[in-house]
Amino acid sequence: MKKRIILKPGRERSVLRHHPWIFSNGIRSVKGELTLGETIEVRAHDGRVLGWAAWSPNSQIQARMWSFEKEAVIDKNFFKQKLAKAQFAREGLIARQGLTGYRLAASESDGLPGITIDKYANVIVCQLLSAGAEYWRDTIVEVLVEMFPDCCVYERSDVASREKEGLEQRIGVLHGELPEMPVIIEENGVKIGVDVVKGHKTGFYLDQRDNRAIAAEYAKGKDVLNCFSYSGTFGLYALKAGANSVENVDVSSHALETAMNNVAMNLLDESRLINSEADVFKLLRKYRDEGKQFDIVIMDPPKFADNKAQLDGACRGYKDINLLAFALVKPGGMLLTYSCSGLMQAELFQKIVADAALDAGRDAQIVRKLTQAQDHPIATNFPEGFYLKGLALQVL
Ligand code: SAH
Repeated sequence: MKKRIILKPGRERSVLRHHPWIFSNGIRSVKGELTLGETIEVRAHDGRVLGWAAWSPNSQIQARMWSFEKEAVIDKNFFKQKLAKAQFAREGLIARQGLTGYRLAASESDGLPGITIDKYANVIVCQLLSAGAEYWRDTIVEVLVEMFPDCCVYERSDVASREKEGLEQRIGVLHGELPEMPVIIEENGVKIGVDVVKGHKTGFYLDQRDNRAIAAEYAKGKDVLNCFSYSGTFGLYALKAGANSVENVDVSSHALETAMNNVAMNLLDESRLINSEADVFKLLRKYRDEGKQFDIVIMDPPKFADNKAQLDGACRGYKDINLLAFALVKPGGMLLTYSCSGLMQAELFQKIVADAALDAGRDAQIVRKLTQAQDHPIATNFPEGFYLKGLALQVL
């Protein structure tokens, strides 16, 4: 007998709408001895076959759909087709923006639950977050090597959420030889150093690419404060666009070192860049007390909420930094502010920013609503894929 799960009555509805997650409380019964990550058939209570999923017994999301087709076979060819499709979907973008660094596969949004693959020039970085992704690791690597024979494949599955899946964290070379770090990528004519070993996530924040280009539009002749700068790429784009000065603020000295190298590599004037290794909350309070102001303030904090219990604290965090940010914008200047917490709804984020403007005593207008770069798409069957929200505000 095929290994399978049978859903409770009514719980087939979201699967029929091609939502890939099946929660443990939606499963009526399990047939056969299922092992971690293996492929199982999914049936409705009345016996209808809904498709095929990966089994994640330790997670609340106990099955993740690979396919909604009755006759599908999950094998090497399946991954080959999915990854080829993901690459195909990005080719126009790669050409338009001159990308050598991009997200090749964005997990559920590319029909590959738990699988994130970023390509940085000749280094491909995989982040495998679910039991199903882990189960197919070798196959995924084989397919990537066939698609990109000259690339090294590196794993950065050092993410705490793997524990919920019953998996250990893993890092290391999966194929080929890792070149010396940083790898140099290019986007929109800007060169950027990426350290896939020591960097955050898979090494870089590809998702802010379009927002860097938007920041650059406002930057000519301006003084820019780039908060939570990481490797300083918002500032790098701004300098390239002719900013008068950029101050990067981050707690990571390694990230700031990369920021300085990025400026040199792009043959820009290093004397226009200040790197402040500091806590944004503290430094901004100090600047506010000193009455220091900038033409453009960029506020791109790390994720403040990983789960619902952290949401209240996250709201206070966003309120606090945006309140400080508004105080630091010159009249007529801009605040570019972001939230990458998927749990923070766009409407709530906008309300928090509005409250911050009110409390700071500033009139502000939203002139643009911003989101994640196009290689981080939101599949229509998976709205949860939307996580990065931003507002461009003109402050009067
Ligand atoms: N804006 C960046 C990405 C920011 S990620 C880009 O476009 O690439 C968040 C950054 O915030 C990380 O680099 C982290 O080191 C930094 N960080 C986290 N908490 C901080 C704090 N309290 N003060 C300053 N930097 C902080």
